[in-house]
Amino acid sequence: PSNDRVLNFSAGPSTLPLSVLEEVQRDLINYKGTGVSVLEMSHRSKPYDAIIRDAEATLRRVLNVPSNYAVVFLQGGGTGEFAASYLNLFASKSVRAKQAKLGRALSCDYVVTGSWSKAGMKEVQRLGGHVNTVIDGVDGKYVGVLPVSQWKLGKPEETAFVYYCDNETVNGVECRPETVVDAVDPSVPVICDMSSNMMSRPIDIKRFGAIVAGAQKNMGPAGVTIAIVRDDLLERDDDPAVLHNLPSVLDWQYYNKGGSMPHTPPCFTIYVCGLVFKWVEKLGLDKVEQLREERAKIVYDVIDSHPEFFKGPVNKQYRSCMNLVFNLPTKELEAQFVAEAAQQNMIQLKGHRSVGGIRVSLYNAMTIEGAQAVAQFMQSFYDQHRQ
Ligand code: PLP
Repeated sequence: PSNDRVLNFSAGPSTLPLSVLEEVQRDLINYKGTGVSVLEMSHRSKPYDAIIRDAEATLRRVLNVPSNYAVVFLQGGGTGEFAASYLNLFASKSVRAKQAKLGRALSCDYVVTGSWSKAGMKEVQRLGGHVNTVIDGVDGKYVGVLPVSQWKLGKPEETAFVYYCDNETVNGVECRPETVVDAVDPSVPVICDMSSNMMSRPIDIKRFGAIVAGAQKNMGPAGVTIAIVRDDLLERDDDPAVLHNLPSVLDWQYYNKGGSMPHTPPCFTIYVCGLVFKWVEKLGLDKVEQLREERAKIVYDVIDSHPEFFKGPVNKQYRSCMNLVFNLPTKELEAQFVAEAAQQNMIQLKGHRSVGGIRVSLYNAMTIEGAQAVAQFMQSFYDQHRQ
C-alpha cells in the first residue's frame, strides 16, 4: 500500500509524485479503454502518438520553450549527450563555417564545476576534440564557481561552444545560468547539462544553444533524455561527410525530423514523463521553484546551526537546492547516520561513491514534510553525537 512508502532521497532515479504513480497504476493494464497497457503499445499507434505529442507540448508550455527551439526525446542518458553535444555542434553549418574560416579545428570551452562537467569534457577528449578548460573547480576543489574575472574563455572566433553543468549532482554545486550566459560572447552557443535541475525553476531558454538532460531526477523515470536545441544549430550543409562522425542515435536532427520517434522510443518512460510534466504544470513552475528553495532551506538551516558537525564543503552562494552534501566528523558516524536513517524509513542518504559523506537529494517530488523529517532526524542525530 502507498502508505508503506519510504522517504527516498536518492540522487536519481529518484522519487516520483505519488499522484503520478497512482495514475500509472490505475491505467497500467488497460490504458484509457484501448485494451492494452502503454508498456505493450506500438509507438506507431494513434494513442501513443497522442501520448508523446502531449508530453512534448506540455514540456514546451511548462518551460516556455521558444518556437525556434526543437524539443527531442532520445536515449543514451546524460552520458550520451556528452558526445552528442560535441558531435552535433561540429556537424552544424555554423560551426563548420567558422572552422573553415579559422583554417583549423575550433576548440570547446569547458567550465568545470564538478564531476559531471568533467566527464563531459573527457568525452570530447576521447573523441579527439580540442578542449579548453575555462576553470576546473576552485583551487582544484568542486566547491563553487570561480569569479568570471578568473575564467580562461577561448576567443569567440576559435570556440565552437561553451559547455557547463547547471547542477553538479555529485558535488552539490549549482550555478545561476546567468553566471555563464552573461560571461560568454553571444556569438558562441552555450550548451548546458541540466540533468539534475531541469524543471525545478524557470529558465531563459533563448540564452542557450542547447540544453540537455536525463529525465530521471525531476522529470520522470530513467530511460529518456531530453534535448532542447536552437534551430540554427540543426542546420547542416549538403556534404554527406558531415554525418560520418555522427551516429543516428546521437543525432538531434534525426530525432527532430522523426518527431522523436525515428526508431522505437522508450515509450513507457516518455508516458510517465508526460504525467510528471502535467503535475508540474498544475503546480506552476514558479511554485515549484519556491518549494525547492523552501525544502533546501529546511535542511541547510540544520547544517548552518551546527557547522562544526555538519561540514558542508560548498560555498553558500553555490550550494545546490537539489543535492545537499555534507560530511560528519567521522566516517563511522556517516555510516551510522545512513543506517539509522534507513531504520526510520529514510533511504539513499549516502554520498556518491567517488566523494563519500552524506547527500540529501531534494527533487521536485520530495514533499516539504519529507525535508522536515530528514532535518529533524539530522537534529536528533546531532543531539546524540555532539562532542
Ligand atoms: N549529468 C548529470 C548532472 C548527472 O547527474 C548525471 C547522472 O546522474 C549525468 C550527467 C549522467 O547521466 P546518465 O546516468 O543518464 O548517463
